[in-house]
Formats: sequence, C-alpha cells, structure tokens
Amino acid sequence: MFNSQWQCLSVRADAARPKPPEVRPTCCFDGGFSSTTMVYMFAMLAVVLGRATRAALSLFIFKINGSVGHGAYLVLLNLRVFGKMAGPRREDYSYAYADGEDIEGDGQQDDGAQQAEGAELDAGVADDVQPWTGLTLLPEKSDVTELLKDVHKAGHKQLTVLLLGKSGVGKSSLVNSLLGEPVVRVQAFKLQADAEATMTIVRHISVGDPEIDGLRIKLIDTCGLEDPEAGDTVNWGALSKIAEDIRGVSIDVVLYVDRLDLYRVDPLDKAIIAAVTHTFGRQIWCRTILALTHSALMQVPPGTSYDSFVDGRIRLLRGVIPRGPLPFLRSPLPAVLVENSETCPINKDNGHRMLPDDTEWLVGMVSEVVDLVLARRQAYKYNPRMTSKPSQRFRWLLPLVIAAEIFFGRRLLRPALLANRHRVEAVEDAVWSLRWQQRNVLGLHPPHRPSKEAAWRLEQMYDDD
Ligand code: GDP
Ligand code: MG
Repeated sequence: MFNSQWQCLSVRADAARPKPPEVRPTCCFDGGFSSTTMVYMFAMLAVVLGRATRAALSLFIFKINGSVGHGAYLVLLNLRVFGKMAGPRREDYSYAYADGEDIEGDGQQDDGAQQAEGAELDAGVADDVQPWTGLTLLPEKSDVTELLKDVHKAGHKQLTVLLLGKSGVGKSSLVNSLLGEPVVRVQAFKLQADAEATMTIVRHISVGDPEIDGLRIKLIDTCGLEDPEAGDTVNWGALSKIAEDIRGVSIDVVLYVDRLDLYRVDPLDKAIIAAVTHTFGRQIWCRTILALTHSALMQVPPGTSYDSFVDGRIRLLRGVIPRGPLPFLRSPLPAVLVENSETCPINKDNGHRMLPDDTEWLVGMVSEVVDLVLARRQAYKYNPRMTSKPSQRFRWLLPLVIAAEIFFGRRLLRPALLANRHRVEAVEDAVWSLRWQQRNVLGLHPPHRPSKEAAWRLEQMYDDD
C-alpha cells in the first residue's frame, strides 16, 4: 500500500508538497520558517539575552525545528559567536582580592573612600598630597615645567595618569622615572601576583612660579594584568579591583605599557588587551598612549634599522588595540618610547636622557601626555556600565525586539506562508483531478488519494531517506 502511494507522490515531484499543520510540531509562527529567518530572529534575540537564556533558546529552537544538523548549527552559532561577543560575565571572575581590602595600608582606598576621593579631587580638594621634590632633580625639569604650564593654563588642577600593562614591563619604573624619585617598588622577578592592585601617588608642584604652582600630578600604578600563578592567564580579579579603585576618578591619560624589545604580540597580550576593553570599555583606548619601555636598544635584528623596528613594534600593538568600530575609522594610538634604565645614554649638553634615534624620551613623553590632555576635554571616568556586555547593555531592547519579531511573524511571515499553502493545495487538487480523469478514460478505478496526514507521514519517510 505504501509503495503504490509512494509512486503516486513521486509523479508530482515538482509540485510543492503539503504539510498539514495539525500533525506537524508547530512553533510560535505556525511552523515552516526558513533557516535564514530563524537564524535572523535568533541572532536578534541572542544579542539582547543573557548567555544561559541563549543556550536555552538554542535548545528550544533545536526542538521545534526537529533537525539535528540545523539545531546543532544554531547552538554553535549562538554559544560561540554571541557568547564570545558578550565576553565573560563579571560574576564569573575569580576575585584575587578580598572586598574592601585596604590597598595602601592607610585606610584611604576602600570603595566608599575611593569614590569620595574621586569626587573630592574633581572638586579640587587635596588628599595626601606631598610636594614633588623629584621635579627639581629631573634633568628635564625646565622642559617638563614648561609643558605642564600649558595644562595649568588650560584650567586643570590635576593631571591623573593611570598605568596599565603586564607585570615586568616597567610600569613602576616609569612612575619612578617620571617623578624623579623612587616612590614605588620595582621588582625584577615576578613569581606571584602583586598583593596590591593599585598604588596611587599624588604630588603637587611648588617651584615658586605662580603659573604652575599648585598643579598636582597623580600617578596610579597598577599590578600586572596577567596571573603568574594561574599559568599566565588574564588576572580578571586584579582588573576588577583596579576598576573598583579608579571608579569615579577622572583619568586624563592612560599609559598602556609594554616592552619595545619584543618581536610579537602573543595570545596573552591579545587576551589582556581584550580584557582591558571588556572591563573599562572601548573608550579607555581613546585616552591611551602606548608607552614602550626598554627603548635604548643596543642592537636591532639584522636587516632592520632602529626606526623600522620601532615602527614595526608599534604597528603590531596598534593592530590589536581597538580604537574605533572599523579599522579605517581608527585614529592611530599615540606611542612614546621610554628607557627607565640608569644606563640610558645622556645628552651631554643638557643631561637629558636620550634614545638611539637621538630623541629625548622623557620630554617627548610628557609632551604627548600634555597634548592628549589638551586635545580632549572629557577625562575618562570608569563606570561599571561601560563594561562591554552587549547582553547587559541592550537588555532594554528586548521588548522592542520581541514586538518586532511578533509583528514580522504575524503580519508578513504568516500571511505569506498561508498564501503559499493555499497555492500548493490548489496545485494538488488540479493534479489529482487530472489523474482521476486519465484513469477514468482508461477504465481504471479512481486513484487513491491519501489523507493529508498520511501524505505528510509519507513525505517524512521520503525526507529521511
Ligand atoms: P612592572 O611590573 O611593570 O611594574 O615592572 P617594574 O617596573 O617592576 O620593572 C621590572 C624589571 O624591568 C625591573 O628589573 C626593572 O629594572 C626593569 N625595567 C623596567 N623598565 C626598564 C627599561 O626601560 N629598561 C631596562 N633596561 N629595564 C627596565
Ligand atoms: Mg610594578
């Protein structure tokens, strides 16, 4: 019996086959979605929903769709692409630091006090400020003072610089070099994560010149962003603690510190940059200067000059730091060279520290910092909402997306599917009527037209084969 029906059905192979809705598992829009439509709708939902919800939805779609390949594809698309986009959730981070830990050991850095500190500093109130004695010892004192005068003239009372980067790249050494005094501890070897996430130093200038006196320099040194104890992975706990410590503090410039004398950007570097973006938001890179330490290279690889080596290294790092939505819209990340070593060559005329390309790095760096401060009026202020979590940020879009999908399904998709079904049924009727006439002419008994349910079952068998 099935065989004869099979033959009948195969005769009308080019006619669209009916699918009675009463026996087919239905989804919310009456079934029959094309894979493109489903992927589209699912993509919209996936952007606005949380990861667990996305996984559940994937499985739901897998169930209603009834096709293993299709369902698995959606599950993968959802979990891998959108899961990656959303990044890890803040709650998942393993905190390496106890909440409310006293960072500087003087009770100033707990969460509440830190926020108050940010507000106070913005209002111009000093907080544990010491005179910048190291300035008088800096060989570059006069140039640095001239540059900082522009900042003061522009109405800034304080210049806040945050240093970020892996451990051992020279962040703490750079703080000491900039201030001209050993204020933070420099460590040659790092076997375990730092006990402190941030170390804040505030100095005020008092050189007897009213054009600059009173200006404060605030340097925020941070611990390494990788976790040496966890096999060199991103130290999410440290990042979260840094974020908490700088919450509400106006950051004028971020120095992203790395070494010049390296030839590649490895996966850990990329992961750290992605983690910084995820934690602080993309906007942090708009206030960032790339600072490359170990710049007094004695030797560069054969076949390259110092300049081409520097260009290559900067290009490598710029390539992985997100600056704008599209590569061609990116403004290049400013970059400066640094040499913290005491063996850095000196300009015999003025005592300034020099690099192999004859530039004076400290003056160059301060000049770049001042340019950035003067170019952009709005300082960076960390706010947890900046954290790049599309699933969180666009959650408010959820009702709109669902409404749009319901509208799309009811007003466009369903009428189109119904019209198509009616068309198919009309063709079916015509085919069976013609067949009936042909058999009648030949004196045969009328053809046996299967019920809709039986036709659909046969069609499923045909599909499975
Ligand atoms: P941090 O972990 O990023 O704070 O790195 P540190 O400032 O503690 O420096 C780690 C090691 O690198 C120390 O031994 C420093 O003396 C050395 N160092 C840092 N910057 C430079 C540099 O520009 N040139 C040279 N030659 N050594 C540096
Ligand atoms: Mg350090």
